[in-house]
Amino acid sequence: MSFPALVEPADELTIDEVRRYSRHLIIPDVGMTGQKRLKNAKVLVIGAGGLGSPALLYLAAAGVGTIGIAEFDEVDESNLQRQIIHGQSDVGKSKALSAKESIAEANPYVNVVLHEERLDNDNVLQVFEGYDLIVDGTDNFATRYMVNDAAYFLRIPYVWGSIYRFDGQASVFAPTLADDAPCYRCLYPEPPPPGMVPSCAEGGVLGVLCAAIGSIQVNEAIKLLAGIGEPLVGKLMIYDALEMEYRKLRVRKDPNCALCGDNPTVTGLIDYEAFCGAISEEAAEAAAGSTISVTQLEHMLKEREEGTRDFVLVDVREPNEYEINRIPGSVLIPKGDFLNGSALEKLPSDKQIVMHCKSGVRSAETLAIVKGAGYADAVHVGGGVVAWVNQIDPSQPSY
Ligand SMILES: [Zn+2]
Repeated sequence: MSFPALVEPADELTIDEVRRYSRHLIIPDVGMTGQKRLKNAKVLVIGAGGLGSPALLYLAAAGVGTIGIAEFDEVDESNLQRQIIHGQSDVGKSKALSAKESIAEANPYVNVVLHEERLDNDNVLQVFEGYDLIVDGTDNFATRYMVNDAAYFLRIPYVWGSIYRFDGQASVFAPTLADDAPCYRCLYPEPPPPGMVPSCAEGGVLGVLCAAIGSIQVNEAIKLLAGIGEPLVGKLMIYDALEMEYRKLRVRKDPNCALCGDNPTVTGLIDYEAFCGAISEEAAEAAAGSTISVTQLEHMLKEREEGTRDFVLVDVREPNEYEINRIPGSVLIPKGDFLNGSALEKLPSDKQIVMHCKSGVRSAETLAIVKGAGYADAVHVGGGVVAWVNQIDPSQPSY
């Protein structure tokens, strides 16, 4: 199904613009009118990270007249493996500013608007207002649901993408473009249980996957803005980089959708952090009063060395993470072994169990399991190995 163009054409292109966009202008489906529509378009990209990097560069090169960037973070060295809009000299700089500078180099005719604030319920509607289209490059569920709801309330279509390791997904959510077009909540009515789906920071992502999915998002954006082709409305694109396979699934509008269904229960912005839950209730309960700091752990490790204390320090991360950095004296038992029960056989019954992971989410989950198995004095390390490297041993690499 095709849709009318989202944007009216600009009055004209300058001679310089005609020269610059000539390879677009000679495509019959785009032509002068399509290019003028892009010039008149206002597109907001959420996040100048993995997906935002290629998306911003291609939107700019394509001649989208106004590009908004919603990003509050700074460039970190670990971003450069995939966030190609930033360079070595940008480390420590605001990502929004770094992206703006790269765009100016790619296409000086683009007007860039920076929104250097964390999107939340207080500002999201205001930031979105006035844009024709949104490209969502966020990496967490709370923001995704907020983007979906805010875009729906403001009747702004958006292009969604997600990436993890070798797998990517993309779709267009535009319930206001067609009566039968689904929203993100129609596809995913509920966020995954906390701790079940690791983020890219926890699980990793192949850098070039960002280009595959980010470019699909720009492709869909251009089609929607110019009114050409069949956008991924009501369709989910699934990409498997290892098998090199693209699949397209039909996504139907859910009449019971809490947002766009027949009897909506979400009629305004909600508490998205609570909806998605940083950690599960069981884990939060287990961690309450049983969380130690890395400084406390360092002290405990000294006492263990001196023989005045005994405990087992368990690292519940994956073996490849253990290769990157580790807390000395820890033993590796991945979280999966706790879920399938095999870990409990490996734990001594007469010693205190201290657990840690990368940042403290997974170890809170395993803490709940271990406490449930009778280890009442078990604790986990808040902030995990990230805090250990930052505060105790900066000589080790972080990831
Ligand atoms: Zn819906």
